[in-house]
Amino acid sequence: MHNEELGFNSQAVHAGKFDDALGSAISPIYQTSTFSFDNADHGAKCFSGEVKGYIYTRIGNPTINELEQAVAKLENGFGGIAVSSGMAAVNTVYLAYLGQGKHVVAHNALYGPSRAILESLYVRFGVESTFVDATNTENVAKAIRPNTSLIYLETPANPTMGITDIKEVAVLAQKHGITVCVDNTFCSPYLQKPLDLGADIVLHSMTKFINGHADIVAGMLVTKTKEHYDKLRPVMVGMGCNMDPHQAWLTRRGLKTLGIRIDRAQENAIKVANFLENHRKVEWVLYPGLASHPQFELAKKQMKGPGAMISFGLHGGLDAGKRMMDNVQLALLAVSLGGIETLIQHPASMTHSKLSAEAKRLGGITDGLVRLSVGIEDVEDIIADLDQALTKV
Ligand SMILES: *Cc1c(COP(=O)(O)O)cnc(C)c1O
Repeated sequence: MHNEELGFNSQAVHAGKFDDALGSAISPIYQTSTFSFDNADHGAKCFSGEVKGYIYTRIGNPTINELEQAVAKLENGFGGIAVSSGMAAVNTVYLAYLGQGKHVVAHNALYGPSRAILESLYVRFGVESTFVDATNTENVAKAIRPNTSLIYLETPANPTMGITDIKEVAVLAQKHGITVCVDNTFCSPYLQKPLDLGADIVLHSMTKFINGHADIVAGMLVTKTKEHYDKLRPVMVGMGCNMDPHQAWLTRRGLKTLGIRIDRAQENAIKVANFLENHRKVEWVLYPGLASHPQFELAKKQMKGPGAMISFGLHGGLDAGKRMMDNVQLALLAVSLGGIETLIQHPASMTHSKLSAEAKRLGGITDGLVRLSVGIEDVEDIIADLDQALTKV
């Protein structure tokens, strides 16, 4: 069967696999920093690009390349650029598309550091940024300036679960010749394909769903075209934020089970969201799979499923939320998300603590917001754990 015809889970298992002459079912790890040339001429030709060959692992490595090809295939992209972390991916995009006098429009509730570095670091290099509620495309349109070079989205956004209409924003951006990057960490390509919806670049913290086992920090960029790929790749190589072959090999292993892990976590999350919404101590729940989510219809249109991330608030706000977090037993009180285990955390004092009070207010990151990443444990156990923690509130 031709590889192009395979479904998502088959691609997740097989895409990018290279022949290693010994017929190994799983590709070996090329744990090497450098590659020898046949002769001086061959070396020169590798560098000039006249012949394809591996040179040095920061530039490229077969184990890393397998992962890049696999994720690019799953995102329907031209090519992938693996990096050392999700934040390395964010910085690679910012460095490639922003600079002195350039302007970025971004959603106001992003992964904390993705916003914080624009305000604390990139501002030093003359980069202007505007944060808007991108869940209304009108707000993005109004924020565009003649020097806007990048629209940076995250949908669903972390941790407010706001959903941006990728297609609408992409049409708008195209009219102005602006590049659109979407952080697809919360969905993974299994649930959402931003490039198919018109985005130019997809970004992942593979630390989360793609690796999925809470044992790796890693990032990935996938571009729709060769043009964007050629713009980003040299930035990664120049910054030196490349992935390590062993990290790539483990991430490739995690990717194989992405579909079944998300199916299971999502099935659990739907039940947990319903449990929370019906609990008398819970004031509100934000989950794209609940009819009460403000963008429930858009979520159904844009995403294959509502995912495994839930935000909620308790009656009694922060104090009540803290008491709940202090009393969970199965769930881990920890940041990160998208792993096999259920995690609970408090964005205002943890992942988003570096943001100003104003940025938190505008982004909807209230003190009472608790974020839950639902794992693949037995859902009865997850609900029983949350239930017993809620009785202590
Ligand atoms: C975790 C995360 C990042 C940053 O990724 P790291 O791998 O921790 O560097 C970026 N975006 C989102 C949405 C995330 O959840």
